[in-house]
Amino acid sequence: MKIMKFGGTSVGCAARMKSVADLVLDGQVNLVVLSAMSGTTNSLVEISNYLYKKNNDGANEVVNQLEVKYTKDVNELYSTDEYKAKGLALIREHFNYIKSFTNSIFTVFEEKVILSQGELISTGMFNLYLQERGIKSCLLPALDYMRIDKNNEPDTAYIRENLTALLEKNPDQEIYITQGYICRNAFGEVDNLQRGGSDYTASLIGAALLADEIQIWTDIDGMHNNDPRFVEGTKPVDELSFDEAAELAYFGAKILHPTCVLPAKINNIPVRLLNTMDPKAKGTLISSHQCENRIAAIAAKDSITAIKIKSGRMLLAYGFLRKVFEIFESYKTPIDMISTSEVGLSVTIDSTRHLDDIVDDLKKYGTVEVDTDQVIICIAGDFRSSNIGYASKVVEALNTIPIRMISYGGSSHNISILIDAADKIKALRLLSDKLF
Ligand code: ADP
Ligand code: ASP
Ligand code: MG
Repeated sequence: MKIMKFGGTSVGCAARMKSVADLVLDGQVNLVVLSAMSGTTNSLVEISNYLYKKNNDGANEVVNQLEVKYTKDVNELYSTDEYKAKGLALIREHFNYIKSFTNSIFTVFEEKVILSQGELISTGMFNLYLQERGIKSCLLPALDYMRIDKNNEPDTAYIRENLTALLEKNPDQEIYITQGYICRNAFGEVDNLQRGGSDYTASLIGAALLADEIQIWTDIDGMHNNDPRFVEGTKPVDELSFDEAAELAYFGAKILHPTCVLPAKINNIPVRLLNTMDPKAKGTLISSHQCENRIAAIAAKDSITAIKIKSGRMLLAYGFLRKVFEIFESYKTPIDMISTSEVGLSVTIDSTRHLDDIVDDLKKYGTVEVDTDQVIICIAGDFRSSNIGYASKVVEALNTIPIRMISYGGSSHNISILIDAADKIKALRLLSDKLF
């Protein structure tokens, strides 16, 4: 079985949904994961923000705008009166439900329920559309099998067992459809896999079912060799290893959710990034194969804070690093980059929630300096030490930019460089010019 995930823009209007139907109907039994139609989750966030502030009028205004948009989509999607009526009934049910939250207390639980409506609507509409076309399709409700545990990690055994059972209960279908992003948590409440998490849904399903392939269909022809939002003339990369892809996704290549690579890698399931707008384009194949002797791609991760700890005493004495890392651990704050010297240690974090407490605690061990507004530039490729000259090409390309930290050798497939946010776009462009 193939898992085919379509993001928000790929199902963003009636015409796009129709093209998705053409793509998934390839004669095989595929499992289709859909995001909410583009812009919907943002609108649901906006509605929730109004409801938190008890501004019912503000919330209703956004709901009404959404309802107008969806009514138009429904009228364009279906050709028969029967299915138009079914589609309108479907969206009305969801919008009435969303409106009902104006009458209740509003907490994070209600917010999660509201955020789940986008994927429930898009999959419901798509399922009806396939049925109107005479296809045997069925919905697999994500809330019946997708679950995270107390640490917000996927409960893989539960997912496999319940998804398999659902498939067995619904045999002989041509297409299975499920919601990306949404799940239940350890307490059975409606929850989600974080923004952009539909990619994660697809790879968790792929892993649970040991699928032949996980396809992530989006609005661009694969992983480009640099961020197309900031650099002109970027090109798709034909092939990436799981490690390279994970690195790029984690360090800002928005096309792929950072968590989505691991389940595929563990189960060695190829992931293909494909373009809904240009289905014939080759896209990017992510697999265990590592291409040699090339720099693959560049990405940038924003909003990084660098912390430097300096001490006159033997900073790197036995046990020192453990003490420092324990401070970050106690505040559940992951570290992205590390760079050490005999008298100083620099680390970067991307969550500043506990920054003040962390800095306070670190002061036990030396003087502490904090730099905000930093960016990590990640260059992924074959950076084995035997590839002489590859690292220097990167540093050379950036010879007009102040570099705050460099991390090389942590793995053989990436270099990370920390610079000021103000230099990000210039750095990305210089790297593209000099490396590709
Ligand atoms: P979807 O809604 O389908 O999940 P996303 O918006 O999450 O789509 O991801 C696709 C977008 O990622 C592209 O439109 C592109 O602007 C952005 N992007 C950022 N970096 C890259 C990259 N290296 N290669 C391709 N796309 C990238
Ligand atoms: N709809 C969700 C979001 O906008 C999940 C996704 O699209 O992957 O974040
Ligand atoms: Mg996405």
